[in-house]
Amino acid sequence: MSTSNETKSTVRNRQRDPRRRGLGSFSSETQPGSSKPVPVVSSRPIQVGISTCLLGEKVRWDGGHKHSHYITDILGRYFSFTPVCPELEVGMGIPREPVHLEGEITAPRMITKKSGGDWTERMNRYSAKRVRELAQLDLCGYILKKGSPSCGMERVPVRNEKGMPMKNGRGLFAMHLLNELPLLPVEEEGRLHDARLRENFIVRVFAYHRLQELFRGRFSRGAVVAFHSREKLLLMAHSPKHYKEMGQLVAAVKQYKTGEFKTRYTSLCMEALGVKTTVKKNINVLQHMLGYLKDHLASAEKQDILQVMEDYRNELVPLIVPLTLLKHYLKIHGIDYLNDQIYLHPHPKELMLRNHV
Ligand code: SF4
Repeated sequence: MSTSNETKSTVRNRQRDPRRRGLGSFSSETQPGSSKPVPVVSSRPIQVGISTCLLGEKVRWDGGHKHSHYITDILGRYFSFTPVCPELEVGMGIPREPVHLEGEITAPRMITKKSGGDWTERMNRYSAKRVRELAQLDLCGYILKKGSPSCGMERVPVRNEKGMPMKNGRGLFAMHLLNELPLLPVEEEGRLHDARLRENFIVRVFAYHRLQELFRGRFSRGAVVAFHSREKLLLMAHSPKHYKEMGQLVAAVKQYKTGEFKTRYTSLCMEALGVKTTVKKNINVLQHMLGYLKDHLASAEKQDILQVMEDYRNELVPLIVPLTLLKHYLKIHGIDYLNDQIYLHPHPKELMLRNHV
């Protein structure tokens, strides 16, 4: 899906470059004793909205861009991007006089820096309409450009009446996006440099996509139960409290109208995954997994796993190390219930997200 102002070169590049095609599925894991891939996501592309300048398009006020190679070259292998440049689409042109925000933090005005032109109403009107359009697109996430008076998600400077910048504002377009689509995983490109924030964002994008796939088409209680079962350990690693609440909701599914159930389940799931995972919570999940292996392992093997878990607890090794070891034994001993857990493969291993958390 492209925007009305998307340049021809963007479309051409995306068609030429397989990394920009948004290959929605990944299946680097297989069931033990089977070549059947674990059904993580469908082959539908994972649509992610993005500030256009991050794709390398020259849409900034000075005719420049803010190309993020991590986004286009790495994430672009799995996501199909929907670019939006609010300032270009609202009609400011390129090049243009830069704008800043001033006034109330929660309802700032967008003013051109030199001539004092006021874009507030036009930008708010445009943003409300554009976000309504985006809501129809099955987006699974959104990456915003940090610091922008239009796209910035947090710490955007807003000048007070004395002309002093207060750094706790939000861009006008970002404000509409976050208010209207509160469950959508949204992150700023700058924060993707932080390994934990990056991993959490990608986990949420893939989870949102799985939820969309689950609720697409005819509603099936059996499919919901199976989904909830596969997500168990991932949810436990983020928020055992939410997992419990979601379990109660699933158990009472017949009491809800389908639409109401979908909304409540999706909302709880995204809320849960928004809770940061910790070493302690991951250790609990790893111990739970180890419990399934206790009758299959020799004492020395078990000691090896416990030692690696201890190293992870002491932050000597990243999460990928105890997980890889456990996965190895789960596969050998054919513990199908755990091999199906999304926790073992919440995103493509090629992204190496668990090598740094
Ligand atoms: S930050 Fe947003 S408004 Fe500014 S150039 Fe990038 S996409 Fe356009």
